[in-house]
Amino acid sequence: MSAPAPHYDVIVAGAGNAGLSAAIVAAEAGARVLVLESAPPAYRGGNSRHTRNFRCMHEGPLAVLTGRYGEDEYLDDLMRVTKGKTDADLARLVIRNSPDCLAFMRAHGVHFQPSLSGTLSLSRTNAFFLGGGKALINAYCNAATDLGIAIAYETEIRHVVVGEGGGFEALEVEVAGERRIVAGRTLVLAAGGFEANLDWLAEAWGPAARNFLIRGTPYNRGAVLRDMLDQGAASVGDPTQCHCVAIDGRAPKFDGGIASRLDCVPFSIVVNKDGRRFYDEGEDVWPKRYAIWGRLVAAQPDQVAFSIIDAKSADLFMPSLYPPVTADTLAELAAKLGLPAAALEETVAGYNAACRPGAFDPTELDGLATEALAPAKTNWARPINEPPFCGYMLRPGVTFTYLGLKVDESARVMGPRGRYPNIWAAGEIMAGSILGEGYLAGFGMTIGAVFGRIAGREAAAVANA
Ligand SMILES: Cc1cc2nc3c(=O)[nH]c(=O)nc-3n(C[C@H](O)[C@H](O)[C@H](O)COP(=O)(O)OP(=O)(O)OC[C@H]3O[C@@H](n4cnc5c(N)ncnc54)[C@H](O)[C@@H]3O)c2cc1C
Repeated sequence: MSAPAPHYDVIVAGAGNAGLSAAIVAAEAGARVLVLESAPPAYRGGNSRHTRNFRCMHEGPLAVLTGRYGEDEYLDDLMRVTKGKTDADLARLVIRNSPDCLAFMRAHGVHFQPSLSGTLSLSRTNAFFLGGGKALINAYCNAATDLGIAIAYETEIRHVVVGEGGGFEALEVEVAGERRIVAGRTLVLAAGGFEANLDWLAEAWGPAARNFLIRGTPYNRGAVLRDMLDQGAASVGDPTQCHCVAIDGRAPKFDGGIASRLDCVPFSIVVNKDGRRFYDEGEDVWPKRYAIWGRLVAAQPDQVAFSIIDAKSADLFMPSLYPPVTADTLAELAAKLGLPAAALEETVAGYNAACRPGAFDPTELDGLATEALAPAKTNWARPINEPPFCGYMLRPGVTFTYLGLKVDESARVMGPRGRYPNIWAAGEIMAGSILGEGYLAGFGMTIGAVFGRIAGREAAAVANA
């Protein structure tokens, strides 16, 4: 297929936070912009529509943000969670530009609200979108319409056509089962990670990946990322690294969002399908530990685990979307959860015998630990002995993957012959450049907003030159 003459200056792949930020900035710089989005309009916004907040640097109170959150503290937080696996220059770039993103969001119809008090105390570090990510996406789509940006839905990009000279020329897309060619002067890739592609996850994780739940959009299948990597684009990040949390095992396979999150683990014991404990449930407060439990559950047989509590702990955490499985005896609970009753009773009896008297405080690390138990439970260890007993099935819930395209400070994608002259990337598709492992709450949206705006500006400048 030969490419028609380019009608658009900037083509953006993906209508999430990163893509729409790029599109708006490019259009405001005078470029004719087309956004291609594989989802239908009702599912627009990818993973961005599931979000609640973004992490923002500020030198003093700013909008809904309290206190001060300076560059060094922000970077320290990132260094700690990634264990230093980050590109410090790109990280500082994101952090320094984050306050401008807040102003940009507000200027394009995004409203903020004070953070909820509760399990995550984020009022100083994270700005919460009023109406969540869905409202942000709606505001951006309205702004895009006002700017004359065309958004083509149900249009899946299958191949990026790179010419002999090493530059982007056109895209092969699929619309209603038909292949078409769309040409443009420049390209911004913002088509997310590959978390919804179970085959690709299985390449990295083995067959265990088939049992993972995908918390976000089913459309982030990594088609663009794979195509670019196949053409020799430089990759960054480890295919097994992703953000993965333990969620309610009854959540839908895709798109369950934040509602399927469970906060019961610290007040429970967690057993595998053989009824055996495998990790310290009370290691730290839940916001600091919930991101490790996805991997812990992924390592258990059949990638499943069960959080068991009794009546006295049932109201200590955020209510769950689905009610817990309850029973008057542990044997009955085991039967309802499909666990071996004798093994569960033995595990609970051993745990109860290892609990010691002491002051219980659910609001902080209380040091109420088991004695002579392996693995220990180092905080909030109280006997599980008051019926009704409750159980929740846990499964690994993948939020997003980290393997991505390598970019420079101008968001330009690195190709086999150096930087592509006219291809940029923003958001999940390049987040691995900054997130080598671990995760900092609210940083995904910050990466997308900062790099999306840079990519939009740079692409428009090249197209207009
Ligand atoms: C449940 C949940 C809660 C989260 N909460 C937060 C939070 O509060 N704060 C935070 O910072 N981060 C959060 N995240 C992470 C955050 O969602 C991502 O970091 C961010 O949305 C990534 O933005 P993006 O624009 O790169 O990708 P997306 O928003 O996922 O957009 C990518 C778009 O590309 C489209 N696409 C994919 N492939 C193709 C193709 N081949 N052709 C055309 N279009 C394609 C997809 O349909 C999608 O619309 C959360 C994620 C989930 C799943």
